Amino acid sequence: MVTELSNLKLTCLRCGTTWFRRVDHPKLCPSCHSPYWDKPKVKAQPAYRTTKRLPSPQQRELNRIADQSRLYALEALLTSEQRQRYEVLLEEMGPGSNTTDRLAALDRARAYAAYEEQTNQAAKAPEQHRKELWG
Ligand SMILES: [Zn+2]
Repeated sequence: MVTELSNLKLTCLRCGTTWFRRVDHPKLCPSCHSPYWDKPKVKAQPAYRTTKRLPSPQQRELNRIADQSRLYALEALLTSEQRQRYEVLLEEMGPGSNTTDRLAALDRARAYAAYEEQTNQAAKAPEQHRKELWG
């Protein structure tokens, strides 16, 4: 009896290696040693649904109103230094800026002002800084 060579040829479905079998059903791939060489790779399925649902128009409207309230509240809390920075940023953005842009500008203005404050403190003579702190 003649055995076709093609019947002896096996292909690992994990690494693509082909080889000629010596046993009926090899336990491992000789190249990558995977015991799953004869089982195709299956894409991992997430355990739970991860796709985000788009917000409904009502939810979007609520989000918009919430953002706007937040913006107004934060604007009211700005110090004069922060406000100066904020107004410069608003001017740079032009009249088309939306609430999200303005909230981002507000964050930047506060960060700038905090940075400036720190730099000023550091630039002050240490003696003066000490006096301010301890009298
Ligand atoms: Zn393999």
